[in-house]
Amino acid sequence: MGWNWTRAKVKRRDFLQITVGLSTGLFLLPAPVRAGKFFASPVARNRLRPPGAVPEEIFAGKCIRCGRCVEVCPYKSIVPLDIGNGVYAGTPLVYAETVPCYLCMKCVAVCPTGTLRKISQQETRMGLAVLNRQLCHNWQDQILCRTCYDVCPFKNQAISLEELRPVVHEEACTGCGICTHACPLTAENGDKAINIEPLYAGARVQW
Ligand code: SF4
Ligand code: SF4
Ligand code: SF4
Repeated sequence: MGWNWTRAKVKRRDFLQITVGLSTGLFLLPAPVRAGKFFASPVARNRLRPPGAVPEEIFAGKCIRCGRCVEVCPYKSIVPLDIGNGVYAGTPLVYAETVPCYLCMKCVAVCPTGTLRKISQQETRMGLAVLNRQLCHNWQDQILCRTCYDVCPFKNQAISLEELRPVVHEEACTGCGICTHACPLTAENGDKAINIEPLYAGARVQW
């Protein structure tokens, strides 16, 4: 008999709710609070899991919050989430525009649970860099800026200049966020002219 993913998912969710409820007293909170912020993933634009992360739907259940990835990161790129993040508290997140990932791959080497899989720099897909052409200096024909291109560790593979305008190539972009961090343009909402979208975090688990 094959794996019953639907049943397994319900069981895991029930287990998480029971565990969190017992340890935090959350059963006392009204249902909308439990179902809202406490179970909302923190992964979003420029809010990324470290390299090698398993799909977000199983990340919180697999990560034991040991903090080894946080400790080993030489750039302090990884931040452990605080208690305000509900079931995701203690899990690691990279804020790309603040401190990006420099792809040293030390975190994937120390993760004891395989939550960060042992992949190479080139295999890393924390997300995909996406240019906002309405903001980017070059696409608006304002001043010549090639910052994102200059800082990219996979220059001419992940990002190239075409008629002096930056273009991202999905097949090689790691989502490291180094370009986002370096971009000199910040919009009112805090976005940069080049941002990392966590496109791969929603990948389905293969059983
Ligand atoms: S690969 Fe290196 S720089 Fe990137 S998050 Fe992991 S430890 Fe930090
Ligand atoms: S090293 Fe792995 S298990 Fe430990 S906090 Fe980081 S992702 Fe979670
Ligand atoms: S385009 Fe940006 S996110 Fe992609 S590999 Fe280059 S620096 Fe990293």
